[in-house]
Amino acid sequence: MKINVLVELSNRNIDKTFTYNVPSSLESKIKKGIRVKVPFAKNTLEGFVLDIIDDKKEDFDIKDIIDVVDEEVILNDELLKLGEYLKEKTLSTLISCYQVMLPKALKASNKTIINKKTEIVVEINKDTDLSKLSDKQKEIINEINKGNNRKTNLLKINSSINTLIKNNIVKEIEVEKYRDVLKDNNKYENFKLNPDQENAVKYILNTDYLVTLLHGVTGSGKTEVYMELIENYLKMGKTAIVLVPEISLTPQMTDRFVSRFGSNIAILHSRLSDGEKYDEYRKIARGEVKIVIGARSAIFAPLNNLGIIIIDEEHTTTYKQENNPKYSAIDVASERAKNNNAKVVLGSATPSLDTYARVFAKKYGLVELNKRANNQSLPKVEIIDMAEEKNKSSHFSKRLLEEIDKRLSNDEQVMLLLNRRGYSSFVTCSNCGFVSKCPRCDITLTYHKTSDMNRCHYCGYAEKRLTVCPKCHERAIKELGYGTQKIEEELNNIFKDKAKIVRMDFDTTSTKGAHEKIINDFRNKKYNILLGTQMISKGLDFKDVTLVGVINADTSLMIPNYRSSEYTYDLLSQVAGRSGRSTKEGIVIIQTYNKDHYSIKLAKEHNYKAFFNEEMKIRKILNYPPFSYIISIKVMSSDYELAKKESENIKNKLVENIHSEVLGPSIGSTFKINNTYRFGIIIKYKKDDTIVPYLKKLIEYYKTNNKIRLDIDFNPINI
Ligand code: ADP
Ligand code: ZN
Repeated sequence: MKINVLVELSNRNIDKTFTYNVPSSLESKIKKGIRVKVPFAKNTLEGFVLDIIDDKKEDFDIKDIIDVVDEEVILNDELLKLGEYLKEKTLSTLISCYQVMLPKALKASNKTIINKKTEIVVEINKDTDLSKLSDKQKEIINEINKGNNRKTNLLKINSSINTLIKNNIVKEIEVEKYRDVLKDNNKYENFKLNPDQENAVKYILNTDYLVTLLHGVTGSGKTEVYMELIENYLKMGKTAIVLVPEISLTPQMTDRFVSRFGSNIAILHSRLSDGEKYDEYRKIARGEVKIVIGARSAIFAPLNNLGIIIIDEEHTTTYKQENNPKYSAIDVASERAKNNNAKVVLGSATPSLDTYARVFAKKYGLVELNKRANNQSLPKVEIIDMAEEKNKSSHFSKRLLEEIDKRLSNDEQVMLLLNRRGYSSFVTCSNCGFVSKCPRCDITLTYHKTSDMNRCHYCGYAEKRLTVCPKCHERAIKELGYGTQKIEEELNNIFKDKAKIVRMDFDTTSTKGAHEKIINDFRNKKYNILLGTQMISKGLDFKDVTLVGVINADTSLMIPNYRSSEYTYDLLSQVAGRSGRSTKEGIVIIQTYNKDHYSIKLAKEHNYKAFFNEEMKIRKILNYPPFSYIISIKVMSSDYELAKKESENIKNKLVENIHSEVLGPSIGSTFKINNTYRFGIIIKYKKDDTIVPYLKKLIEYYKTNNKIRLDIDFNPINI
């Protein structure tokens, strides 16, 4: 027997299979989609078996494989095919496409070893006379008959399990134990769906559209619709995937699913340990669960017989992977749905422009939930013009402070958003204007108070806080701008003991379980103010929050990206949706220096359709998506002159060989990262069959050049 093996090295030069011979002792273990160990150059590598060739002919040029790694198939036929699709869509190596689908412990590479955990359960020996037992022993036997057979649990009742084992009345069995990721789950009640929700479920069950947008205002009860749909598909014997932007940010949603579907769910998210991920993954692969909830990469969950894929908050940028292979989870979802004869539901209160434009073009179906599920009205939004504020030294308007004070007196809660995207406190000299920058990345450094260091947010470079300017040698260094820590200080000064503030940002959530703890503590009213970055804008549902304040609506308008208005509208609508979700009415206060900007004005009116129309006009004039598609090409080298020359070369070649608009080369905000220079080229196209073949040629041409690296991104998030 011979096999074709794709080895673990993600190098464009060896992105093909190699043929090996299987010694007869291993033949019975060989299956398509398992890992094997093979000799390669002078090393031993792991690789995936992609083909089995039934060929008895001896061939002495072909090497033998060394060993078989897996008993069970790691990549089933559907995933093998999906890998080919991903490779074509992202122009990445095939091996990187397979690796991205798998949890670390199952990627081809012999570095991570994860042990299976085991535990002891007990079983009653058939032929014993139970009538002679003591009461305590009978209690244990009763428990075992009820299905409570874990030895550790039985020991908690009383210790007579040991006697029962010793007397051979029950026997111990060692079984594999999955690491438990669902412990400490909060319970939620099930609701009877309202007519709008019913209608949405019916529409999606009956539609011929592959993809349907569920456009529902914040608090309209989209989660209940998802769960009802899944219930229907489970009854048909099918399975479901639910994607959420980032699980640790949406623990309440996961809780609601677990509350309803219990152990039929596997959860995949970045904060699980490698061992936990490995166990969850095997539960899925073995068909022991029917529902998978997870962030982006859960789209590759090896469920059989998929019926429905739900993508919540579909407009979120985290659904696009920014490393190779640079895939979009929405595209992969559509592909898998096609292959499985399944459906995709995209849920959002503020759909991406791309998605909504597809609804208009009748490529996607549409169902709307226009009211909140409990009939509570959407919160009233006020805009405060910060240019008019008298007290220039405060980050808070008089109005916002008054409203916060009211909430604190009434035992209600406040959420405050500090919109920091694209803006961070930087370090500058007030004498000569010197700005502290990262020596490797050419990006301004951010001052971190807790560690008293200036840090680079791109590469992690850190240096001690400056006191003297390195340029003019004056003692005039200042940290400008403000972060959540500074705002927290200001609030504490104003409200003293009345304010009990909890901060949720990158710094306070870096440890496992930290998010969940903050959210639970805030829900249990240990705090009355939740202050955070965009992390607090999504999915959270607290019944006593009646005021949401946005401290600075403007910063996301300033990011250098054609989507900045869209981001601003989304963020403001999402965070506004956190106010007044239960019986108490809520308000929202937005502080801004751009009170007339349409994305702020229309977010105030909760008018998505008007925003869509307004923004589409601008996109049309500038020929940006959804009126065109974009490909970004980065030409990278540690040699500045070379990067510059080659990027000009590539640009000229593209102009000659493809039929679309080519822009650049340009240097963007991330020009120099980790001592690598990056020149950007942009292709804008509508329909152009010349592009992909030519890009493949370019990749082929540069693949042996180790001084230049090309990075290609279809529909990039950052350009
Ligand atoms: P969305 O995801 O659309 O923002 P949620 O699914 O979080 O909204 O629902 C908002 C709130 O409404 C939740 O507290 C939920 O429990 C409640 N809810 C949902 N459906 C119903 C219903 N049919 N009747 C009563 N309350 C409901
Ligand atoms: Zn850096």
